[in-house]
Amino acid sequence: MARYTDSVCKLCRREKQKLFLKGQKCYTEKCPIESRNYAPGQHGLSRRSKVSEYGVQLREKQKIKRMYGLLETQFRNYFEKAIKQKGITGENLIKILERRLDNVIFRLGFAASRSQARQLIKHRHFMVNDRLVDVPSYLVSQGDIVKVKEKSKKLDAIHNSLKRVKESAYPWLTIDKATLTGTFLQVPERADVPLNANEQLVVELYSK
Ligand code: SF4
Repeated sequence: MARYTDSVCKLCRREKQKLFLKGQKCYTEKCPIESRNYAPGQHGLSRRSKVSEYGVQLREKQKIKRMYGLLETQFRNYFEKAIKQKGITGENLIKILERRLDNVIFRLGFAASRSQARQLIKHRHFMVNDRLVDVPSYLVSQGDIVKVKEKSKKLDAIHNSLKRVKESAYPWLTIDKATLTGTFLQVPERADVPLNANEQLVVELYSK
């Protein structure tokens, strides 16, 4: 499948916001957003500040899509799924994205970024409810137990990432670092998800 291969830090600089795409570096002073918080390229500093309504909606969509590491078709499919659900479409969209296994692994702290989580999942290091799952888009449900496979419990990547986690920072997740097990207590409310984005603009964009 096609993947974005340029520097991911450029994506953050384009959105003028940390998207946490690079793992440990995102939490250090080496993060370019700390020192160069302007769009990449020759005209990054001098770009026009006036952006059209469409432009604002587009940027917001790109930002959310990139944060979760999705391609356009995947993102659009989640949006279509969100429309069919009861409730507010934008909130439904975020709730679905939060259920992705790569996101849950990242939020639990087993991976330093969602892209690392995807890699670890594809390399078959995780189980959900005692069954091996190697599909990053797998949607976790209320009460599901996510854990590191027995043979993978010594992986440096997982332990290095867990160093930044004391206990789960998210009310819908609990983590037991001793057994490398996490529980997805419930689908989070939008208000609980620390996502600096306006998903309603995505709804407006796709509704045109
Ligand atoms: Fe790069 Fe991470 Fe900083 Fe984004 S948040 S600019 S991915 S280091």
